[in-house]
Amino acid sequence: MNRTISWKIFALVLSLLLCFLLLQSVLILLVEKPFLQATLLSFIIIASLAFLIPKRFLQWIQSEYTKRLETVNSAWEKTVQQISRERDNLQKVLNEMTEGVLVVDERNRIRMVNDALKTLFSLPQEILGKSLLEIIRHSELEEAARQTIETGKSKTFELTLPSSSQKSFEVNVVPMISAWRDHSGDTKGYGAMVVFHDISRLKELERIRQDFVANVSHELRTPLTTIKGYAETLLEGALKEESAPSFVQVILKHTDRLTKIVEDLLMISKIESQESQLSLEPLSLSEILEETLEVVAENAKKKKIPIITSGLPDSLLVKADRKYLEQILINLLDNAIKYNREGGKIVISATLTPQNDVEVAIQDNGIGIPKEDIPRIFERFYRVDKGRSKELGGTGLGLSIVKHLVQAQGGKVWAESQPGEGSTFYFTLPSPR
Ligand code: ADP
Repeated sequence: MNRTISWKIFALVLSLLLCFLLLQSVLILLVEKPFLQATLLSFIIIASLAFLIPKRFLQWIQSEYTKRLETVNSAWEKTVQQISRERDNLQKVLNEMTEGVLVVDERNRIRMVNDALKTLFSLPQEILGKSLLEIIRHSELEEAARQTIETGKSKTFELTLPSSSQKSFEVNVVPMISAWRDHSGDTKGYGAMVVFHDISRLKELERIRQDFVANVSHELRTPLTTIKGYAETLLEGALKEESAPSFVQVILKHTDRLTKIVEDLLMISKIESQESQLSLEPLSLSEILEETLEVVAENAKKKKIPIITSGLPDSLLVKADRKYLEQILINLLDNAIKYNREGGKIVISATLTPQNDVEVAIQDNGIGIPKEDIPRIFERFYRVDKGRSKELGGTGLGLSIVKHLVQAQGGKVWAESQPGEGSTFYFTLPSPR
C-alpha cells in the first residue's frame, strides 16, 4: 500500500517536472532576446525546484539571481545610453550637413532625417516611421530606394520638385548594410541612405547660359540678315540706282547696332571676369554728373526734356571708379530720355543713408514699367517693349551693365515705377567717409 502511494507521488513529481520542462522549451523558443531567455529560464527553474528545495536555500538562490539580474540590467542600461548617445552624435553630424539626408529601413519607412532635408522639402515635424512616398510624393525616389534595398546597388538620378519652387536635386541612394550577420555569415541588408544635393542654382545658371546664347544669336541675326539683304540688292544692280545711298545708310545703321551689341557684351564680360581693374577713389558726384549731362544733353534737348539736379552739394562724395560711375549715369539718363514723352522731365537727387552709402535717384515722368516686368528689367536682353527699344536704338543690355557696374563697386540698384506716370531708378555707392 505504502509502496503504491510513494510511486504515485514520484510519478506526480516527475510529470510536474516534465510539464515545466516542456513549458520552458516552448517559452524559450517564442522569446528571441537572450536577456529575456535568461530571465525566463531562471524563473522556471526556481519555480520547478520550489517543490523540492528547502525554503532558505531557495531564498539564497533568489537573492543571487536578483544580484545577477541587477548587474545585467545596469550593463544593459549603459549599452542603451551609449547607443542613444551615438545616435544623437550621428544626428548632430547629419544636421551640420548642407545636403539633405534621410535613412529608410527595409520597408521604405523613414528612420532618420536631417535638418537640411526638412528645410529643403518643408517637411512636417513628425515624419519618423512614415513611408517615403507619403512624405515626399515622388514615385521615382520611392522606386530607387526600393531597388537599392533589394539589389544592394547604389543609384543616382536627378529629381525636380513639381512645386512652384522648381527645386532640382542630384539624388544619391546608397544601400545600408547592417552589422548583424545571419547564420550563413552574410551581412543583412537594413535599408538605404538617400542624399539630396541641391543643384537648383547650377540648373538656373545653365538655363541663363542657354538663354543668353539663344538671345545673342537672335540679336545678331536680325542686323546681319538686313545687312546681307541690302548688300546683295546693291550687288545685283541697285548700286547704280538712285536709292543706293539709302541702302548704304541702312547697312551703316545695322552695322552700328551690331557694334553696339558687341561692345555692350564685351563690357559685361569684362566686368564679370573682373578683367578690368577697378580704380576706386573719392569722387564728387555733382562733378561727374555735370560731365555726364554733357553727353546726354543733345538727346534731351531733342525731346525738350529738362534735367533737374536737386540737393546735390559739391561736397557729396562717392567711392567709385570714374569710368564705371559715368557709364551708370549715362545708361540711366539715356533710358530716362528714351522712355520719356516729349516735354517730359528728369529729376536727379542724392542722399547719404544711415549706412553711410550715397543713394542716387533718377526720376522721370515717362511711360513707366508694368509691375510684373520690374524684377526682370536688369536681365540681359530683357525689354518691356521689344519693338520700341529697337526703334530707339536699344540693345536690352543697358540696365544689365548698370547692375554689374554698381555691384562691382559694392552697391545696389533697383527701380520703382507706375505705368503711364514714370519711373525712378535708384542706386547706392559707398561714401568714402
Ligand atoms: P534698352 O537697350 O532696351 O533700353 P535696357 O537694359 O537699358 O535696354 O532696359 C531694359 C528695358 O527696361 C527697356 O527695354 C525698357 O523697356 C525698360 N526701361 C528701362 N528704363 C526705363 C525707363 N526709364 N522708363 C521706362 N522703361 C524703362
